[in-house]
Amino acid sequence: MIDEEIDQSWGGLSVIDDDKVGTEDDRRNVTEDNADLDVWNLGNPDDIVAEEDLPFTRVKLSLDEEEEEIDAVRTMQAWVVDIPDPKYIATMLKWLKQSGLDSASLVHLKRIRRQGNFATLLIGTSPTPPPLPDVVGLSAPYQISVPCTPALTLTSLELKNTFWPTVYAPRRKWEPENWTKGKVRWAHSAMKLVQESAKSTSKGDDLPIVARVPQPYEDPGSLSQPFVANDSRISTRHPLRHAVLNVIRQVADYRALQPSESASNDNSPMPILTGDTSSSEDEQIPTDVPRNGAHYLLTGQTLFTTHEPCVMCSMALLHSRVKEVFYLVPMPLTGGCGGLTCLPALKPVNHRFTIAQWKAGKGDLSPITLDENTDA
Ligand SMILES: [Zn+2]
Repeated sequence: MIDEEIDQSWGGLSVIDDDKVGTEDDRRNVTEDNADLDVWNLGNPDDIVAEEDLPFTRVKLSLDEEEEEIDAVRTMQAWVVDIPDPKYIATMLKWLKQSGLDSASLVHLKRIRRQGNFATLLIGTSPTPPPLPDVVGLSAPYQISVPCTPALTLTSLELKNTFWPTVYAPRRKWEPENWTKGKVRWAHSAMKLVQESAKSTSKGDDLPIVARVPQPYEDPGSLSQPFVANDSRISTRHPLRHAVLNVIRQVADYRALQPSESASNDNSPMPILTGDTSSSEDEQIPTDVPRNGAHYLLTGQTLFTTHEPCVMCSMALLHSRVKEVFYLVPMPLTGGCGGLTCLPALKPVNHRFTIAQWKAGKGDLSPITLDENTDA
Protein backbone atom coordinates (compact mmCIF):
# COMPACT_ATOMS: atom_id res chain seq x y z
CA MET A 1 0.00 0.00 0.00
CA ILE A 2 2.71 2.40 1.01
CA ASP A 3 4.76 1.34 -1.99
CA GLU A 4 1.88 2.06 -4.28
CA GLU A 5 1.48 5.58 -2.94
CA ILE A 6 5.13 6.33 -3.36
CA ASP A 7 5.03 4.98 -6.89
CA GLN A 8 2.20 7.30 -7.83
CA SER A 9 4.00 10.30 -6.52
CA TRP A 10 6.85 9.39 -8.82
CA GLY A 11 4.87 9.91 -11.93
CA GLY A 12 3.40 6.53 -12.66
CA LEU A 13 6.05 3.91 -12.03
CA SER A 14 3.24 1.65 -10.86
CA VAL A 15 1.84 1.38 -14.37
CA ILE A 16 4.99 -0.19 -15.77
CA ASP A 17 4.07 -3.63 -16.91
CA ASP A 18 6.85 -6.15 -16.42
CA ASP A 19 5.84 -8.03 -19.56
CA LYS A 20 6.52 -4.99 -21.70
CA VAL A 21 9.94 -4.34 -20.25
CA GLY A 22 12.40 -6.35 -22.34
CA THR A 23 16.01 -6.47 -21.27
CA GLU A 24 17.47 -5.47 -17.99
CA ASP A 25 19.01 -2.47 -19.72
CA ASP A 26 15.61 -1.28 -20.82
CA ARG A 27 14.30 -1.63 -17.34
CA ARG A 28 17.14 0.45 -15.95
CA ASN A 29 16.45 3.14 -18.52
CA VAL A 30 12.80 3.28 -17.58
CA THR A 31 13.70 3.66 -13.93
CA GLU A 32 16.21 6.38 -14.66
CA ASP A 33 13.80 8.25 -16.90
CA ASN A 34 11.24 8.26 -14.16
CA ALA A 35 13.76 9.27 -11.55
CA ASP A 36 14.69 12.22 -13.76
CA LEU A 37 11.16 13.49 -13.50
CA ASP A 38 11.58 14.61 -9.93
CA VAL A 39 15.34 14.66 -9.49
CA TRP A 40 14.95 17.61 -7.13
CA ASN A 41 13.03 15.42 -4.70
CA LEU A 42 16.09 13.50 -3.56
CA GLY A 43 19.36 14.48 -2.03
CA ASN A 44 20.95 17.55 -0.54
CA PRO A 45 18.56 20.54 -0.42
CA ASP A 46 21.45 22.87 -1.22
CA ASP A 47 22.26 21.18 -4.53
CA ILE A 48 21.56 23.29 -7.59
CA VAL A 49 18.96 21.81 -9.94
CA ALA A 50 19.87 21.91 -13.63
CA GLU A 51 17.60 24.15 -15.70
CA GLU A 52 16.16 21.22 -17.69
CA ASP A 53 15.31 19.32 -14.49
CA LEU A 54 13.26 22.14 -13.01
CA PRO A 55 9.56 21.24 -12.80
CA PHE A 56 8.60 24.59 -14.32
CA THR A 57 9.39 26.71 -17.36
CA ARG A 58 10.20 30.35 -17.01
CA VAL A 59 8.33 32.71 -19.29
CA LYS A 60 10.92 34.86 -20.98
CA LEU A 61 10.01 38.52 -21.20
CA SER A 62 10.30 39.72 -24.79
CA LEU A 63 11.52 43.00 -23.33
CA ASP A 64 14.98 41.50 -23.24
CA GLU A 65 15.16 41.31 -26.98
CA GLU A 66 17.02 44.43 -27.94
CA GLU A 67 17.10 45.91 -31.40
CA GLU A 68 20.67 45.27 -32.40
CA GLU A 69 20.36 45.45 -36.16
CA ILE A 70 19.33 48.49 -38.11
CA ASP A 71 16.29 46.75 -39.59
CA ALA A 72 15.12 45.73 -36.13
CA VAL A 73 14.93 49.29 -34.78
CA ARG A 74 11.28 50.12 -34.32
CA THR A 75 10.51 53.69 -35.34
CA MET A 76 7.63 56.14 -35.34
CA GLN A 77 6.96 59.38 -37.19
CA ALA A 78 7.73 62.61 -35.36
CA TRP A 79 7.65 66.29 -36.32
CA VAL A 80 10.90 68.22 -36.31
CA VAL A 81 11.88 71.73 -37.28
CA ASP A 82 15.25 73.15 -38.29
CA ILE A 83 16.57 76.05 -36.26
CA PRO A 84 18.96 77.91 -38.54
CA ASP A 85 20.48 80.08 -35.83
CA PRO A 86 21.58 78.44 -32.52
CA LYS A 87 20.66 81.60 -30.62
CA TYR A 88 16.99 80.62 -30.99
CA ILE A 89 17.37 77.19 -29.39
CA ALA A 90 16.55 78.43 -25.89
CA THR A 91 13.51 80.31 -27.19
CA MET A 92 12.26 77.23 -28.99
CA LEU A 93 12.78 74.94 -25.98
CA LYS A 94 10.85 77.37 -23.81
CA TRP A 95 8.07 77.51 -26.38
CA LEU A 96 7.95 73.73 -26.53
CA LYS A 97 7.58 73.46 -22.77
CA GLN A 98 4.72 75.95 -22.74
CA SER A 99 2.98 74.53 -25.80
CA GLY A 100 2.01 71.25 -24.16
CA LEU A 101 3.67 69.30 -27.01
CA ASP A 102 6.27 67.98 -24.58
CA SER A 103 4.85 64.48 -24.69
CA ALA A 104 5.83 61.55 -22.50
CA SER A 105 6.11 59.34 -25.56
CA LEU A 106 9.34 61.13 -26.49
CA VAL A 107 11.16 61.11 -23.16
CA HIS A 108 13.63 58.54 -24.49
CA LEU A 109 14.83 60.97 -27.15
CA LYS A 110 17.02 64.07 -26.97
CA ARG A 111 15.17 67.25 -27.83
CA ILE A 112 17.82 68.82 -30.00
CA ARG A 113 19.97 67.28 -32.68
CA ARG A 114 23.05 69.33 -33.57
CA GLN A 115 24.92 68.90 -36.79
CA GLY A 116 27.77 71.40 -36.79
CA ASN A 117 26.26 74.81 -36.29
CA PHE A 118 22.88 73.53 -37.37
CA ALA A 119 20.22 72.44 -34.91
CA THR A 120 16.96 70.53 -35.31
CA LEU A 121 14.25 70.45 -32.66
CA LEU A 122 12.03 67.44 -32.01
CA ILE A 123 8.49 68.71 -31.58
CA GLY A 124 6.02 65.87 -31.22
CA THR A 125 4.09 62.99 -32.73
CA SER A 126 0.74 64.65 -33.48
CA PRO A 127 -0.89 63.57 -36.77
CA THR A 128 -0.91 67.12 -38.16
CA PRO A 129 1.94 69.65 -38.07
CA PRO A 130 1.84 71.76 -34.89
CA PRO A 131 1.61 75.56 -35.19
CA LEU A 132 5.05 77.10 -34.68
CA PRO A 133 5.98 80.33 -32.90
CA ASP A 134 7.05 83.39 -34.81
CA VAL A 135 10.80 82.94 -34.89
CA VAL A 136 13.01 84.40 -37.62
CA GLY A 137 14.19 81.93 -40.26
CA LEU A 138 12.26 78.90 -38.98
CA SER A 139 11.48 76.36 -41.71
CA ALA A 140 8.20 74.51 -41.97
CA PRO A 141 8.06 71.43 -39.71
CA TYR A 142 8.56 68.05 -41.36
CA GLN A 143 8.32 64.41 -40.30
CA ILE A 144 11.14 61.94 -39.78
CA SER A 145 11.44 58.43 -38.31
CA VAL A 146 12.62 58.28 -34.70
CA PRO A 147 13.21 55.24 -32.44
CA CYS A 148 10.23 54.10 -30.34
CA THR A 149 12.29 53.11 -27.30
CA PRO A 150 15.52 54.00 -25.50
CA ALA A 151 18.72 52.09 -26.26
CA LEU A 152 19.42 49.18 -23.94
CA THR A 153 22.85 48.37 -25.34
CA LEU A 154 25.70 50.40 -26.82
CA THR A 155 25.24 48.70 -30.20
CA SER A 156 21.61 49.65 -30.18
CA LEU A 157 22.49 53.20 -29.12
CA GLU A 158 24.77 53.62 -32.09
CA LEU A 159 22.05 52.39 -34.45
CA LYS A 160 19.30 54.46 -32.91
CA ASN A 161 21.41 57.60 -32.93
CA THR A 162 21.48 57.39 -36.72
CA PHE A 163 17.73 58.10 -36.62
CA TRP A 164 17.74 60.60 -33.78
CA PRO A 165 19.86 61.13 -30.63
CA THR A 166 18.49 58.55 -28.21
CA VAL A 167 18.76 58.09 -24.47
CA TYR A 168 20.95 55.21 -23.31
CA ALA A 169 19.14 53.26 -20.58
CA PRO A 170 20.81 49.89 -20.02
CA ARG A 171 18.70 47.40 -18.13
CA ARG A 172 19.96 44.55 -16.09
CA LYS A 173 19.95 41.60 -18.41
CA TRP A 174 17.66 38.81 -17.37
CA GLU A 175 19.63 35.92 -15.99
CA PRO A 176 17.93 32.79 -14.76
CA GLU A 177 18.27 32.39 -11.03
CA ASN A 178 19.78 29.16 -9.75
CA TRP A 179 17.29 26.99 -7.91
CA THR A 180 18.33 24.55 -5.21
CA LYS A 181 16.54 21.27 -4.55
CA GLY A 182 15.30 22.71 -1.29
CA LYS A 183 13.74 25.69 -3.02
CA VAL A 184 12.09 23.51 -5.67
CA ARG A 185 10.58 21.39 -2.87
CA TRP A 186 9.35 24.57 -1.23
CA ALA A 187 7.71 25.68 -4.51
CA HIS A 188 6.27 22.24 -5.11
CA SER A 189 4.72 22.18 -1.68
CA ALA A 190 3.09 25.59 -2.24
CA MET A 191 1.87 24.55 -5.68
CA LYS A 192 0.50 21.32 -4.30
CA LEU A 193 -1.41 23.23 -1.63
CA VAL A 194 -3.07 25.57 -4.14
CA GLN A 195 -4.01 22.63 -6.30
CA GLU A 196 -5.56 20.69 -3.42
CA SER A 197 -7.36 23.76 -2.19
CA ALA A 198 -8.74 24.45 -5.68
CA LYS A 199 -9.94 20.88 -6.03
CA SER A 200 -11.93 21.14 -2.83
CA THR A 201 -13.29 24.56 -3.91
CA SER A 202 -14.56 23.11 -7.16
CA LYS A 203 -17.13 21.13 -5.22
CA GLY A 204 -18.87 24.38 -4.20
CA ASP A 205 -20.16 27.33 -6.22
CA ASP A 206 -16.94 29.22 -6.63
CA LEU A 207 -14.41 28.90 -9.42
CA PRO A 208 -11.53 26.52 -8.63
CA ILE A 209 -8.88 29.24 -8.63
CA VAL A 210 -6.56 29.61 -5.64
CA ALA A 211 -3.59 31.88 -4.94
CA ARG A 212 -1.01 31.48 -2.20
CA VAL A 213 1.89 33.55 -0.92
CA PRO A 214 4.07 31.31 1.27
CA GLN A 215 6.82 32.46 3.55
CA PRO A 216 9.81 32.95 1.25
CA TYR A 217 12.34 30.12 1.09
CA GLU A 218 15.44 32.26 1.55
CA ASP A 219 13.99 34.86 3.88
CA PRO A 220 11.03 33.37 5.77
CA GLY A 221 11.16 36.19 8.30
CA SER A 222 10.00 38.73 5.71
CA LEU A 223 6.50 37.27 5.88
CA SER A 224 5.35 36.05 9.25
CA GLN A 225 2.79 33.61 7.85
CA PRO A 226 1.56 32.21 4.54
CA PHE A 227 -1.50 33.74 2.92
CA VAL A 228 -3.99 31.89 0.77
CA ALA A 229 -7.22 32.89 -0.92
CA ASN A 230 -9.64 31.40 -3.38
CA ASP A 231 -11.75 33.08 -6.01
CA SER A 232 -15.01 34.21 -4.42
CA ARG A 233 -16.67 36.32 -7.09
CA ILE A 234 -19.66 33.99 -7.29
CA SER A 235 -20.33 33.40 -3.61
CA THR A 236 -19.82 37.09 -2.75
CA ARG A 237 -21.48 38.32 -5.96
CA HIS A 238 -18.59 40.70 -6.28
CA PRO A 239 -16.90 40.73 -9.72
CA LEU A 240 -13.49 41.75 -8.36
CA ARG A 241 -13.08 38.94 -5.85
CA HIS A 242 -10.43 37.13 -7.87
CA ALA A 243 -8.09 34.80 -5.99
CA VAL A 244 -5.01 36.99 -6.60
CA LEU A 245 -6.79 40.19 -5.55
CA ASN A 246 -8.19 38.39 -2.52
CA VAL A 247 -4.78 37.23 -1.38
CA ILE A 248 -3.23 40.67 -1.92
CA ARG A 249 -6.05 42.15 0.13
CA GLN A 250 -5.39 39.61 2.87
CA VAL A 251 -1.75 40.66 3.03
CA ALA A 252 -2.81 44.32 3.05
CA ASP A 253 -5.27 43.75 5.88
CA TYR A 254 -2.63 41.88 7.83
CA ARG A 255 0.00 44.55 7.24
CA ALA A 256 -2.42 47.27 8.29
CA LEU A 257 -2.67 45.68 11.70
CA GLN A 258 1.10 45.60 12.15
CA PRO A 259 3.13 48.43 13.70
CA SER A 260 3.81 51.13 11.12
CA GLU A 261 7.14 51.29 9.35
CA SER A 262 8.16 54.44 11.17
CA ALA A 263 7.45 52.78 14.48
CA SER A 264 9.29 49.61 13.59
CA ASN A 265 12.43 48.72 15.44
CA ASP A 266 14.39 45.64 16.32
CA ASN A 267 11.45 44.29 18.29
CA SER A 268 9.18 44.51 15.29
CA PRO A 269 7.99 41.04 14.24
CA MET A 270 8.84 41.64 10.60
CA PRO A 271 10.51 44.21 8.42
CA ILE A 272 7.35 45.27 6.67
CA LEU A 273 7.29 47.13 3.40
CA THR A 274 10.87 48.16 3.35
CA GLY A 275 10.77 47.99 -0.42
CA ASP A 276 13.86 47.33 -2.44
CA THR A 277 15.35 50.78 -2.56
CA SER A 278 18.57 49.44 -4.02
CA SER A 279 16.77 48.43 -7.20
CA SER A 280 17.56 50.79 -10.02
CA GLU A 281 14.26 49.95 -11.67
CA ASP A 282 12.38 51.43 -8.79
CA GLU A 283 14.22 54.71 -8.76
CA GLN A 284 11.44 56.49 -10.59
CA ILE A 285 9.02 55.75 -7.77
CA PRO A 286 8.71 58.81 -5.59
CA THR A 287 9.68 58.05 -2.02
CA ASP A 288 6.49 59.61 -0.72
CA VAL A 289 4.32 56.92 -2.31
CA PRO A 290 2.28 55.45 0.51
CA ARG A 291 3.78 52.08 1.31
CA ASN A 292 0.84 50.77 3.23
CA GLY A 293 -1.37 50.84 0.15
CA ALA A 294 -1.18 48.44 -2.76
CA HIS A 295 2.46 49.31 -3.40
CA TYR A 296 5.30 47.12 -2.17
CA LEU A 297 2.94 44.72 -0.43
CA LEU A 298 4.59 41.66 -1.95
CA THR A 299 8.15 42.92 -2.29
CA GLY A 300 10.45 39.90 -2.44
CA GLN A 301 7.52 37.46 -2.29
CA THR A 302 6.47 34.62 -4.58
CA LEU A 303 2.86 34.00 -5.52
CA PHE A 304 1.62 30.56 -6.53
CA THR A 305 -1.67 30.24 -8.30
CA THR A 306 -3.61 27.55 -10.08
CA HIS A 307 -4.30 29.69 -13.15
CA GLU A 308 -2.42 32.40 -14.98
CA PRO A 309 -3.67 35.68 -13.48
CA CYS A 310 -5.92 37.86 -15.64
CA VAL A 311 -4.79 41.29 -16.85
CA MET A 312 -6.35 43.08 -13.87
CA CYS A 313 -4.71 40.74 -11.35
CA SER A 314 -1.38 40.93 -13.19
CA MET A 315 -1.52 44.72 -12.89
CA ALA A 316 -2.25 44.43 -9.18
CA LEU A 317 0.75 42.09 -8.89
CA LEU A 318 2.95 44.68 -10.59
CA HIS A 319 1.81 47.33 -8.13
CA SER A 320 2.42 44.94 -5.26
CA ARG A 321 6.06 44.56 -6.38
CA VAL A 322 5.80 40.76 -6.31
CA LYS A 323 9.06 38.98 -7.13
CA GLU A 324 7.81 35.82 -8.83
CA VAL A 325 4.53 34.39 -10.06
CA PHE A 326 4.03 30.64 -10.61
CA TYR A 327 0.97 29.19 -12.23
CA LEU A 328 -0.18 25.74 -13.17
CA VAL A 329 -2.60 26.47 -16.01
CA PRO A 330 -1.88 29.04 -18.74
CA MET A 331 -4.82 31.18 -19.86
CA PRO A 332 -3.99 32.09 -23.48
CA LEU A 333 -7.19 34.10 -24.03
CA THR A 334 -7.30 36.11 -20.81
CA GLY A 335 -3.93 35.90 -19.01
CA GLY A 336 -1.77 38.90 -18.20
CA CYS A 337 1.43 36.94 -17.59
CA GLY A 338 2.21 35.78 -21.13
CA GLY A 339 -1.22 34.62 -22.35
CA LEU A 340 -3.26 37.46 -23.82
CA THR A 341 -0.52 39.92 -22.91
CA CYS A 342 2.49 40.10 -20.66
CA LEU A 343 2.20 43.06 -18.32
CA PRO A 344 5.72 43.00 -16.83
CA ALA A 345 7.10 43.17 -20.37
CA LEU A 346 5.30 46.38 -21.29
CA LYS A 347 7.68 49.24 -21.97
CA PRO A 348 6.43 51.84 -19.46
CA VAL A 349 6.43 49.34 -16.61
CA ASN A 350 9.21 50.03 -14.13
CA HIS A 351 8.92 46.84 -12.13
CA ARG A 352 9.38 43.34 -13.46
CA PHE A 353 8.62 39.99 -11.95
CA THR A 354 9.63 36.49 -12.94
CA ILE A 355 6.89 34.30 -14.38
CA ALA A 356 7.03 30.54 -14.40
CA GLN A 357 4.60 27.92 -15.59
CA TRP A 358 4.57 24.63 -13.74
CA LYS A 359 5.05 21.71 -16.10
CA ALA A 360 1.87 19.63 -16.14
CA GLY A 361 2.35 16.34 -14.35
CA LYS A 362 5.61 17.34 -12.64
CA GLY A 363 5.54 16.57 -8.94
CA ASP A 364 2.17 14.92 -9.39
CA LEU A 365 0.44 18.19 -10.20
CA SER A 366 -2.24 18.22 -12.85
CA PRO A 367 -4.12 21.14 -14.42
CA ILE A 368 -7.53 22.16 -13.10
CA THR A 369 -9.97 22.79 -15.89
CA LEU A 370 -11.46 26.23 -16.27
CA ASP A 371 -13.40 27.78 -19.14
CA GLU A 372 -10.81 29.33 -21.43
CA ASN A 373 -12.66 32.67 -21.49
CA THR A 374 -12.57 33.08 -17.72
CA ASP A 375 -10.52 35.89 -16.21
CA ALA A 376 -8.55 34.05 -13.55
ZN1 LIG B 1 -7.96 38.08 -12.00
